Amino acid sequence: TGKGLIVSFGEMLIDFVPTESGVSLAEAPGFLKAPGGAPANVAIAVARLGGKAAFVGKLGDDEFGHMLAGILKQYGVTGEGILFDQGARTALAFVTLRADGEREFMFYRNPSADMLLKPDELNFELIKSAKVFHYGSISLIVEPCRSAHLKAMEVAKDAGALLSYDPNLRLPLWPSAEEARKQIMSIWEKADVIKVSDVELEFLTGSPKIDDENALTLWKDNLKLLLVTLGENGCRYYTKHFRGSVEAFHVKAVDTTGAGDSFVGALLAKIVDDQSILEDEQRLRGVLKFANACGAITTTKKGAIPALPSESEAFTLIKE
Ligand code: ADP
Repeated sequence: TGKGLIVSFGEMLIDFVPTESGVSLAEAPGFLKAPGGAPANVAIAVARLGGKAAFVGKLGDDEFGHMLAGILKQYGVTGEGILFDQGARTALAFVTLRADGEREFMFYRNPSADMLLKPDELNFELIKSAKVFHYGSISLIVEPCRSAHLKAMEVAKDAGALLSYDPNLRLPLWPSAEEARKQIMSIWEKADVIKVSDVELEFLTGSPKIDDENALTLWKDNLKLLLVTLGENGCRYYTKHFRGSVEAFHVKAVDTTGAGDSFVGALLAKIVDDQSILEDEQRLRGVLKFANACGAITTTKKGAIPALPSESEAFTLIKE
């Protein structure tokens, strides 16, 4: 696992998950706290694998915010980029997987602290020291967070970092699908590595076809790697020179939350010190196999953060 710094930018929040499975939010008898937020999960995934990670984002100066900062610290994620907002509270999400298989979300964000991150508050020293800068905040469309997003990306890129993007589509947060598509594509441009899920591919292209032709409509000049994750079907990869699939591992999935973040964290941890992997198909396939193993392990346990694997757990699954 690499020693270069991976900075992950965006939100950290608490998911409140019903104590009983398969119920709607309105029917939930109670909730359990599950810390998460995709960018924070990615930072912790990297740290769990022995890599160097920092989280950049804003929390509320409240009990939840300090609890989340404590979790990052506990996992060894650098906290120098964490800010606490004096007015707004930490973001909360109420999430359930209903009996009909649909995920239902409700957010407390009116506005929450993460949305109030301002460009001039950013820790530029930290961002400039990133070898990889990963982004994909769900608050992309909200000012001042949007400007902070763009500024951090620019500073990281100018300092020579590889930029990695995951849209983390959460449709209920966007005013309209059209707006979501427009905003996501507008920050797509600078990314070197992009990971989308099959659901995001369908949404962003407007076509339900999960095939190469459709995936490649998302291709852009200067992109180094496009990934489409396919859950139990593994992933597809596309570069300028080659493309292919890497199979998933067979596991008994109990909760897929965080699988994509685990996958991304593993990929970034493996390429941070040697980006030439992106040009070498055999080595890239090895890294994606490792990322698939990490994603698979994350589905075998409840919650996102407690389910992120260590390197030895991933190797054990690969050797089985
Ligand atoms: P996201 O969480 O972004 O929707 P996926 O669900 O596609 O992403 O998961 C990311 C990766 O985790 C997949 O590419 C795959 O390697 C692994 N994964 C996810 N679900 C499963 C599963 N049910 N069985 C095995 N591996 C899985």
